[in-house]
Parts: sequence; structure tokens; C-alpha cells
Amino acid sequence: MTVHAYGAHAGDKPLEPMTIQRRAPGAHDVQIDIAFCGVCHSDLHQVRAEWAGTRFPCVPGHEIVGRVSAVGAHVSTLEPGDLVGVGCIVDSCQHCADCDAGLENYCDGMVGTYNFPTPDAPGWTLGGYSERIVVHERYVLRISHPEEQLAAVAPLLCAGITTWSPLRHWQAGPGKKVGIVGIGGLGHMGIKLAHALGAQVVAFTTSEGKREAALALGADEVVVSRNAEEMAGHAGSFDLIVNTVAAPHDLNPFLALLKRDGTLTLVGAPASPHTPPEVFKLIFKRRSIAGSMIGGIPETQEMLDFCAEHGIVADIELIRAEQVNDAFERMLKGEVKYRFVIDSATLSA
Ligand code: NAP
Ligand code: ZN
Repeated sequence: MTVHAYGAHAGDKPLEPMTIQRRAPGAHDVQIDIAFCGVCHSDLHQVRAEWAGTRFPCVPGHEIVGRVSAVGAHVSTLEPGDLVGVGCIVDSCQHCADCDAGLENYCDGMVGTYNFPTPDAPGWTLGGYSERIVVHERYVLRISHPEEQLAAVAPLLCAGITTWSPLRHWQAGPGKKVGIVGIGGLGHMGIKLAHALGAQVVAFTTSEGKREAALALGADEVVVSRNAEEMAGHAGSFDLIVNTVAAPHDLNPFLALLKRDGTLTLVGAPASPHTPPEVFKLIFKRRSIAGSMIGGIPETQEMLDFCAEHGIVADIELIRAEQVNDAFERMLKGEVKYRFVIDSATLSA
């Protein structure tokens, strides 16, 4: 079937309206009429070919929410009308140790929601800046938030799970001091989630103007990371720091803030490398640097259910599809509080 979408034909070209094909639902497929799709910084990295291997045309978007409009013959747990989400994963091998552990995000055969090989036309996946998507039922998440919050739920499908997964893995909770670096789409969710999990939360920002806003998001304290004195006040005190920054920078000042056995987890994925870590900063207090990629399907459902229970959604600015190129520029300047979300109804306008 033909559906309207927004995508780019080259890394140096703006996104523009286009039509794409979606497969008819197979036995285990769920067809979703997309209501909203969040705009992740990864969409910008990929569509502008900042990361290697972008295939064009590229239709980004992996923070998808909408309603089921058809299901395949073997789908028993979802039905037309259900409110659902799709995040960064639309398929995986389904039989390796990672898939068995519900960590499909680490499966070597993981198929991302856009730019990954698929038998469907044109040969690679096309994402959520589109009216409709067809996805195997295993990768479809249930949404139990009230429908009026649906647009603000969309960013949970990437920004939410990408911060939730490391917070859970490194056991953020009562008695733990957790730092969140970068108050953007991911970072603002990290603050909300770490706070709701009961951790003591310190937000790190390069933007003096975000101080008050970070406190309102749930941070107990805010540090402007360019201020060495403020940074030094927290030396050796963190259990976990989750770094969401989308650009290369010096990690060493953050390593110095970890206590013994503390971990600096990188989720931000800049196109060029950070300043290398100083070995002695790691050795002296048995500190670790780690990475974390999105999250598996069961933990994504866990995060969505937790957010519904605690009334947590993203802070968003709803845009029309034709505003997405401007939205990318504003995201680069940090001029969004904190996530743009595309109203999919405007794709066919
Ligand atoms: P975003 O909304 O643009 O937020 C990034 C934040 O980083 C900014 O708000 C800013 O916060 C801080 N920053 C400081 N210096 C910067 C600079 N020179 N350029 C850009 N940001 C700077 O981006 P996002 O959507 O949260 O994504 C953040 C990163 O995570 C991206 O690289 C994205 O590709 C990556 N990502 C990774 C995964 C994963 O699975 N690991 C999943 C999704 C996204 P302050 O103003 O507070 O300093
Ligand atoms: Zn994303």
C-alpha cells in the first residue's frame, strides 16, 4: 500500500514529502496508523549521513505511536483500535541468547526501524515520519496512558527507553547519586525517570539558561559543566552518570566525579570521538566507562507501564511535517523543550 512520508534523497538535501510502500500485514504483523512521531537527534545524524551507511531515500523516525488498524491471522494479543507504540526495533533473529533474554537491541540480526536491510521495498526499512507502518507483533508496545497524552508518549519509545535501560541496569534508585549529562530529548527523560526511581539526581548542562527548567524536571541539583568550581564540588561522589551529549567533548571531568566503582555510561552517539579517557582516572577508583543502546522489548514495555503509572510523559513541541527541517536546526541549537513531535495528520496535507 502507498502511504505519505517525509524523508530525504541525500545527506545534503532537506527532508521533503514523498510516498512509500508498506507491505500488507503477514500472519504475525500489526498494521499501525501512526498518530505522532518524535524527532530524535539520531534521525538527524542518520538522515544527514553523519553516521556511516545511510541509504537514500531515508525516512527517519523511531518514536512512533498510533492505533492498530489491522492485524494478521495469528496475532492474538492486539486488535484494531488498540493504542500502541513502535520504537527503534522492528525485527531481530528471535532465537539468539540476546533475543531469548529480551535484549533484542543487542541481537546481531536486529533490524532498526529505519535504514536496516529488509525484504520490503526499497530494500531497507523506512521509519515513522510516515502515515502507517507494518511491524511484527513482538516489537509492538502497548500504551496505557490516556489518549490525550499520546503525542507526549511518543518520545518514550526512544528517549525514554534509552535512559531507562542504563538507569535500571546500573540500579539507579534510593541511596544512589545519579548524574544526567545534556538536557535534551534523552536527558530530560533521564532526569524524570531517575527522579521517579528515587535516585538523587544531578543534571549537567552547558546551558546556564536550563538551570530552573532542570529543577522543574526533577533534578535535585544542576551543575553547569563548563564551571570547573561547580564540577569540583561533586568530585568522587556519583554512583552513575549517564551522558546523552550528541557532540564530542572531554569525558575526563565527568570521570573525576565518579566514586569508587562508579560508572560513566555513554548513550550520546556523536559522529566523531570524544577526548580519550585518562587511564589513571579509571584506575584510581576502579571506575568504568560503558555504553548502552536503546533497550529490549520487555524493558521498553516495563518503562511504558512505569510511566503510565507515575504520570510521566515527555515535554514536547508539536509540529507539522513541513516544519521538520527547521526543527532539526532548532534541535542543534538546543532551542527545544525538549522534544519535537510530528503530527502525522499533516503528512498528507
Ligand atoms: P538533543 O535533544 O539534541 O540533546 C543533546 C543535548 O546534548 C543538548 O540538549 C545539549 O544539552 C547537549 N549538548 C552539549 N553540547 C552539545 C553540542 N555541541 N551539540 C549537541 N548537543 C550538545 O539530542 P537527543 O535526541 O537527546 O540525543 C542525544 C544523543 O544520543 C544523540 O547523539 C543521539 O544520536 C544519541 N542517541 C543514542 C541512543 C542509544 O541507543 N545510545 C538512542 C537515542 C539517541 P545542554 O544544553 O543541557 O548541554
Ligand atoms: Zn532515537
